[in-house]
Amino acid sequence: DAEKLLELRIMPYTSGQNMLVARDVTLIRQLESMRRNFVSSVSHELRTPLTVLKGYLEMLEDVPDANQGMMGKAHHVMAEQTTRMDSLVEQLLTLSRIEATPDVSLDERVDVPAMLNIIEAEAVALSGDKQHGFSFNIATELFACGDSDQLRSAISNLVYNAVYYTPAEGNIVVSWQPCREGAEFYVQDDGPGIAPEHLSRLTERFYRVDKARSRETGGSGLGLSIVKHALSHHQSELLIDSEPNQGSRFGFVLPSQFVSTD
Ligand code: ADP
Repeated sequence: DAEKLLELRIMPYTSGQNMLVARDVTLIRQLESMRRNFVSSVSHELRTPLTVLKGYLEMLEDVPDANQGMMGKAHHVMAEQTTRMDSLVEQLLTLSRIEATPDVSLDERVDVPAMLNIIEAEAVALSGDKQHGFSFNIATELFACGDSDQLRSAISNLVYNAVYYTPAEGNIVVSWQPCREGAEFYVQDDGPGIAPEHLSRLTERFYRVDKARSRETGGSGLGLSIVKHALSHHQSELLIDSEPNQGSRFGFVLPSQFVSTD
């Protein structure tokens, strides 16, 4: 068994006698430490773009007659960092909204095929000059029951990650099909893949394999954490199959009670 942390207190008992009360505070201390780590990570993530913004603002102040080139560069970097902070805050809000809604209703019918049509259009736009080859294999009659907001977050994060991390002209296959247990969704790419030592940590908040690269893509490191929570509320889990230089496959199986075909 794991070590337990006990808090001991001496309290008055009967006259002249005290009693020793032991309380198991292991979980409380763990939660406190998780909260502290989270706050410190968020502060750090926000500070990085803020430091860049501050630096450029100071430069503009020090060089009032900055030339067009300098102004252009400053404007570009400042816009980039602002977008970065904006998407981080957006992801934080999504994560907290999803965490606060663990009980999903089975009454809501989610039109996953229609959702995937929109995600496909967005993925193509996001791919832009990278010109990925996309193949969407979608069972058109296959709907889900659950929280559409959460399922959209899970699916779109997986698809957009494939677009972000797969180099130009790579191929991305997206599939949503019935299976024995219910319905299966996956995104397969032929991108860089991920080394085995990282796999179990990918869904941790702010965990990235390559910080610099992830930052380049504007990643917050929260995407897969959002996916994990959204899926767990649908009694499902994220399955990752990846090897360096062999591409990645991220997917999940939605159990039959969360699937609707009529
Ligand atoms: P981020 O915002 O950095 O993309 P995520 O939580 O979505 O954060 O992903 C965590 C990390 O997993 C990423 O930083 C990246 O290193 C890795 N990753 C996710 N999807 C892929 C993929 N399709 N191919 C390669 N690496 C990936």
